Amino acid sequence: MADLMDAVTSLAKRRGIVFPSSEIYGGLRSSWDYGPLGVELKRNIRNAWWRSMVQLRDDVVGLDAAIFMSPRVWEASGHLDAFTDPLVECLNCHQRFRADHVPGWHAPQSGHEEDDTTIDLAHAPKCPNCGHDTFTDPRNFNLMFKTHMGPVEDDAASVYLRPETAQAMFVDFVTIQQATRKKLPFGIAQIGKSFRNEITPGNFIFRQREFEQMEMEFFVEPGTDEGWHEYWINERFTWYTDLGIAKENLRLREHDPDELSHYSKRTVDIEYRFPFTDWGELEGIANRSKPHGDSFDLRRHAEHSGEDLTYFDPEKERRYFPAVIEPASGVDRALLAFVLDAYRTEEAPKAGGGTEKRTLLALHRDLAPVKVAVLPLSRNEALAPEARRVHDLLKPRWMTQYDDAGSIGRRYRRQDEVGTPFCVTVDFDTLEDQQVTVRDRDSMTQDRLPILKLTDYLEERLA
Ligand code: ATP
Repeated sequence: MADLMDAVTSLAKRRGIVFPSSEIYGGLRSSWDYGPLGVELKRNIRNAWWRSMVQLRDDVVGLDAAIFMSPRVWEASGHLDAFTDPLVECLNCHQRFRADHVPGWHAPQSGHEEDDTTIDLAHAPKCPNCGHDTFTDPRNFNLMFKTHMGPVEDDAASVYLRPETAQAMFVDFVTIQQATRKKLPFGIAQIGKSFRNEITPGNFIFRQREFEQMEMEFFVEPGTDEGWHEYWINERFTWYTDLGIAKENLRLREHDPDELSHYSKRTVDIEYRFPFTDWGELEGIANRSKPHGDSFDLRRHAEHSGEDLTYFDPEKERRYFPAVIEPASGVDRALLAFVLDAYRTEEAPKAGGGTEKRTLLALHRDLAPVKVAVLPLSRNEALAPEARRVHDLLKPRWMTQYDDAGSIGRRYRRQDEVGTPFCVTVDFDTLEDQQVTVRDRDSMTQDRLPILKLTDYLEERLA
């Protein structure tokens, strides 16, 4: 399984999907750059989420809020006091760890908000680096990045890089509700960067300090929240399977009561069978309606800002705080899961007989970075103008690539390993009969058809 991770990491770098940031300077451990194909893949993931969460619904609207928010937001939300992880340092090798990630650690798992950071000395945890069993006492380490706004570096000018996108949906709740005149139930969705000073980033792009979230706050009438929670758990699970992730590699995990965040009535994670952790969180779906059965966050922001953040229910003719369901996912983790799940190697027939190994990313067509590759059979000058014409025909509709370098077999393999669903080959017969060959990535079958019918053919299969 670790081999799978190595294979995917190396493919991602070799093909310009994602690779370490600032690598010529030795890299910056937790930062990653998405190259030409990674940008497309990431954009396709975001678009698939946005389409399903916003555009195809009439009860969710979008938001793109600033990353810098008033520091008072983080005071009200509790992040300033409690968005911490327990940090321990090995007294022998001085490596630092998140205590709840040290094997043998027995405090309630995870929960950045947990204050209980005791280590059970009866089952002394060992340092994952050197095996020693003596650590400093855990101390709570706040994960928010702090910086200064404007030219004065004093505390009054302190601002934070947001550690989640969610808070803007609460802070802007009334403005958006009034602007859109939405009635409950309705949601506000946002995609954007978040920043956490993770103690131990790692496992490729799984845990970074700068990452991208896709979050939605769904505001509902209190009392209907539990049903809506179930609804969103199902919707979100299906989103991943509809986009090609095998069901057996996904599971739902209920948070134990002692693991729940202080604002959560119930949280269910969608986990993926990542090769490095067995199961790891892909998305959390929380009912952020504790302790009053309605929105923890709206109440807190109302208290701290002095503004009325309740909703006026025109049917019931009364004001109240809605309850809130939050599906919170990460673009980077989703990308990693989609790629891991789509990665396969197989024996394929070789031109001229026999077989050869081919690597394939069997990505869903909506996610594939390049949808169609146009390949002249050879670099022969006679083929280029016709192949370029075919490319020009397809370019406005789909993300395409023109490739004339190397043998046709090698070019097919190159497209297979980045998940391109179709290759269109222009050969010498094309010049006579105006027909091209379309090769399907998964079945490797080839269809010969007139150029005139090409866009309809692809439209049918890529739409
Ligand atoms: P974990 O327990 O793994 O630290 P979390 O429970 O703190 O994650 P949430 O606050 O629920 O995560 O964030 C929602 C989603 O954002 C996660 O499911 C994940 O996809 C993504 N995410 C959170 N932290 C990171 C990170 N450091 N790097 C990449 N993605 C992240």
